[in-house]
Amino acid sequence: MKIKDIELYRLSVPLKRPFKTALRTVDAAEALIVKVLTDTEHSGYGEAPPTAVITGDTLESVAGAVERFIKPKLVGMDVSNLEGIMERIETSMVHNTSAKAAVDMAVYDLYGKLYHAPLYRLLGGYRQFLETDVTISLNEVGVMVEDSVRAVEDGYGILKVKVGGGFPADLERVRQIRKAVPPEVRLRVDANQGWTAKESVRIIRAMEEEGLDIELVEQPVRAGDVEGLKFVTDHVATEILADEAVFSVQNAVDIIQLRAADLINIKLMKTGGIYNALKICGLAETYHVSCMIGCMLETNVAITAAAHFAMAKRNVTLVDLDGPALSRYNPVQGGALFDGSRITLTEAPGLGISAIEGLTAF
Ligand SMILES: [Mg+2]
Repeated sequence: MKIKDIELYRLSVPLKRPFKTALRTVDAAEALIVKVLTDTEHSGYGEAPPTAVITGDTLESVAGAVERFIKPKLVGMDVSNLEGIMERIETSMVHNTSAKAAVDMAVYDLYGKLYHAPLYRLLGGYRQFLETDVTISLNEVGVMVEDSVRAVEDGYGILKVKVGGGFPADLERVRQIRKAVPPEVRLRVDANQGWTAKESVRIIRAMEEEGLDIELVEQPVRAGDVEGLKFVTDHVATEILADEAVFSVQNAVDIIQLRAADLINIKLMKTGGIYNALKICGLAETYHVSCMIGCMLETNVAITAAAHFAMAKRNVTLVDLDGPALSRYNPVQGGALFDGSRITLTEAPGLGISAIEGLTAF
C-alpha cells in the first residue's frame, strides 16, 4: 500500500453554544481535513483545527505545511514503513504540529487498514471504553453554575471548569459550582495560563482549605513559565496538570525531570500526532506520571484518533475529549461513538471512519 496523494478539505461544524476560555471565544469547530490516498482502494483521514492562540496554526498555514512540505516527502512511501514515514513527517519542517498531526493520524488510519485491525488494538488495546469530562466555559458565575447543573443532568460525572479571571473571582466560580452539583461529581479546574504562580498557590490553597475537592488544576501559569509551574506544584497538595507547557517530547522530559507538574495533558495537535504522543506517554509512565488525553476544539475525526491512542495505553488515565459533545452535530460516519460521557470504538480497521459530511475542497 503506497501513498499516492494527499487531498485537503475544509470542515466547519457549529457549536451548541460559544466555547470560552481565558484565551478565546469561538462559535464553530473549524478544521482542515486531510485525505491520504493510496494505490489501493483505501484512504486515510486526518484533521487539524487551526488553534492560533495555542499552537500558532491557521487554516492556511496548516494547508501550506501539508501541501508544500509534508506531501512531497510522503508520496511513494509504503504504509508498512510506518517508522520511515514518521521520520519524514518529523523532519519535513520545524513546529507546525497540527499539520503533522493531521497527516500522522491519517497514516495510522491506513496502517490499521493495511493490517485489518482497529488502530487501538495495534497500539496496545488496553481499554474497552473511555469516560470523558465536559468543559464548562468561562462565564459569569451564575451562567457557569447553570451550565454545570445541566451537564450533570445530561449524565456527566466529571466537569472541567474553565477559569482565568484570578482571585477572588475564580475561587467564587469553583465554590458555587461545588455547592450546586452532587458531591460525587469530579471537578477539574483549567486556568489556561490565566494566573500568576503566587496567585495560583493562593487560590488552590483556599480551594483546599474550603474542602472543594478539586481533582486537579490544569496549566495555572503561562506556558513558558516552567519555574512558576514548579513553584505551584511544590506549594500545593492538589495535583497540577501541565497542558500548554508540554508540546514536544523534550518539553515532557524537562517538566518530568524538574518535577514541575504531577500530570501531563497530551494533545495530538501539540505533539504532532500519535507517534510522539506514544513517546511522551511511555516516558511519563517510566516516571510514574499519569497522562490525560486532551483535545483542541476538534471534530470527531481527530477525536477518534485521540480515542484510539487513549484506549490503547494504560498510562492515559484521564480523558478530556469533549469536542463532539460541544458540537451541534457529528459530521463523521463511523469513528468514535459517544454515549454521553462514555466513548467506545468499533472493530472497523484503522480509525474506522467511513465518510465525512460537509467537506469542501480547500
Ligand atoms: Mg487545557
